[in-house]
Amino acid sequence: MTTSSLSFPVERSTSPATEAERRRVLADPGFGKHFTDHMVLATWTRDAGWHDAKVVPYGPFTLDPSTAVFHYGQEIFEGMKAYRHADGSVWTFRPEQNAARFARSAHRLGLPELPEADFLESIRAMVDVDQVWVPEHGGESSLYLRPFMIGTESGLGVRPSMHVTYCVIASPAGAYFAGGIKPVSLWVTPQYTRAAPGGTGAAKCGGNYAASLAAQLEAQSQGCDQVVFLDAVERRYIEELGGMNLFFVRRDGTVMTPQLSGSILEGVTRSSILEVARELGHEVEERRISLDEWREGVGSGEITEVFACGTAAVVTPVGRLAWLDGEVVGSSEPGEVTMTIRNQLLDIQTGRAEDTHGWLHRL
Ligand code: PMP
Repeated sequence: MTTSSLSFPVERSTSPATEAERRRVLADPGFGKHFTDHMVLATWTRDAGWHDAKVVPYGPFTLDPSTAVFHYGQEIFEGMKAYRHADGSVWTFRPEQNAARFARSAHRLGLPELPEADFLESIRAMVDVDQVWVPEHGGESSLYLRPFMIGTESGLGVRPSMHVTYCVIASPAGAYFAGGIKPVSLWVTPQYTRAAPGGTGAAKCGGNYAASLAAQLEAQSQGCDQVVFLDAVERRYIEELGGMNLFFVRRDGTVMTPQLSGSILEGVTRSSILEVARELGHEVEERRISLDEWREGVGSGEITEVFACGTAAVVTPVGRLAWLDGEVVGSSEPGEVTMTIRNQLLDIQTGRAEDTHGWLHRL
């Protein structure tokens, strides 16, 4: 790996959270509600490239109301976690995968790529300055890291911004299933799609999430937790959820997931599960999976487990699948394969299992 060309000098906060305040937050962090004392910033301009990288006190941006991101949504982001191991050291999971996806997203959104070495250095600088915010080892708590990039040129012309801001913020995250693992229910939206061929579905850009919200409201009005999106052309094949990839386990133990279509996000958790499942002795298939195959498979018992996966929840069992005029209900208990894969992945991330893949990156 090349070394970072950027250095991130630290301007320390003069009013960080007190130890008591921090302890209170870390005792019950929830998700995405509390932020650490600092953030990373860097600027790109067309003339000077990346420059002015730094760590500064966490705080608001002041932006002209005509700034590009407010009008045309030129924005990308990433999500990753830092875990504390038993010896107190802090590690991230496959951060180079997030760096590579961030670069792919940047390319798709007409934003400048941040070199992998600079991305990794920004993460190191962020966690280094706020390492007291990384929860203790044990359980599933972590420090969630949110790098993002926005077009910050002012003016209403529709074109790639010539002034861009990169930022990393960090938020302590508790166990996703604090009250025990609970299967989610999913709604197959009849009217909305998430991403079309040639669109931005494979990029992690804010617009994809904005476009998923009406469908999310629809799901909630149907008593479901999350939305399943189908392909935009035939409206037949499973793509993914609004923020997670999907997996299916067949009766013979085969683990399968929708192939990368160009319109779904290539999850880091998804790629890791494909490898872990293979090592656990499962046949693995990446192919097109239709909604009919899912419905009929659960109904007939051919599909024994369904789960969703992503950085935030790691692995989430799926209980119920509902559509306009029907539903199939799987087991109310998380399946055995689901839990074995979930535990194996979490054990690697938290240092309880050996990292035979070299997936962990010490900060
Ligand atoms: N699909 C979408 C649309 C997502 O937002 C996410 C979360 N980043 C995922 C899948 C899962 O990706 P990862 O495993 O890298 O978190």
